[in-house]
Amino acid sequence: MSSWRIVGQEHITRPLSSALARGQMSHAYLIGGRPLGGKSLLAQAIAQALNCTDTDPPCGRCSQCQRISRGIHSDVQVITVTPDPETKRMRTVIALDQVREMEQRAALGPYEGKHLVFIIDPAEKLHPTAANALLKTLEEPPPRVTLLLLSGLEQELLPTIQSRCQRLELAPLSAGAIVQVLTQEHSVAPDDAALLARLSTGRLGWALAAAKDPKVLEGRQHGLESLMEVLDNGLERRFQVAQEVASQFSRSRPAAQETLGLWLGWWRDLLLIKTQAPQLIANSDWQSSLEERAARYSASQARTVVRELLATLERLEANANPRLALDVLMLSLPQPADKARPTT
Ligand SMILES: [Zn+2]
Repeated sequence: MSSWRIVGQEHITRPLSSALARGQMSHAYLIGGRPLGGKSLLAQAIAQALNCTDTDPPCGRCSQCQRISRGIHSDVQVITVTPDPETKRMRTVIALDQVREMEQRAALGPYEGKHLVFIIDPAEKLHPTAANALLKTLEEPPPRVTLLLLSGLEQELLPTIQSRCQRLELAPLSAGAIVQVLTQEHSVAPDDAALLARLSTGRLGWALAAAKDPKVLEGRQHGLESLMEVLDNGLERRFQVAQEVASQFSRSRPAAQETLGLWLGWWRDLLLIKTQAPQLIANSDWQSSLEERAARYSASQARTVVRELLATLERLEANANPRLALDVLMLSLPQPADKARPTT
């Protein structure tokens, strides 16, 4: 039953197992979920399930499964944003020639396994011409070929693409489940695992990335320090930070959403402290700073900020002008001069 080794996603893995047993897998899946929510891990497990030689796929142990997890299986290919072959400069989209190349490879069928799998990640980066070319393959896929489209921004995909894929939505994981994966499968020390699980807000991919790469936690530190700078300064400095986050947004939407998500998490923690529930805070390594700052704001101010941050995230999602949306946010935050008198 747990051959998938993907915790907390039984609503996805159970139906997949039975579709596999009946030989009724879809030829295209759209895997949705938040950035770093485990989309790549699920895609890899589906590729393993389709190629596994064990009686309980995906076993994770047979040579097919192992080659896929090591990223050296020639029938499992990831199509992503790559540098332009001519100019060597990084492209911003998945281009038409990449989809054409994929089609040529698809026509040849699998070489070393039972099934050829293309993982398109992130699918919202498909250039419109590439997306249109992909439609043909989605309509009449060659036999033994499966397409896995990964996207945290499904609303940006062509409706015709969405409707030709079966949708799989990853659920956030409990902190306990994330601690279990980190300690048992990745040898992370229990204390570190507990902190990472709290900070991950249910995203296993984030927790795994942070456990492996110190830059992830450094990025979080930087994001929270910029929030402190905003809170300690007047409008001039605040608008500079708004500009920084807006340009971060134009380079990488998920990175800017991550920054605002951090700020939101910090303010939620502050509210938890105001409401006498410090044991529930996510940023437990910031507890003393949170307590000190909680004395400066009232609970109603904190609630207003949480609402404003959520509204800003929604406005950005709805393609509002990022600079404008962030300036509005800066204006709504409590001013350092207001010396708030905490009332509750
Ligand atoms: Zn296997």
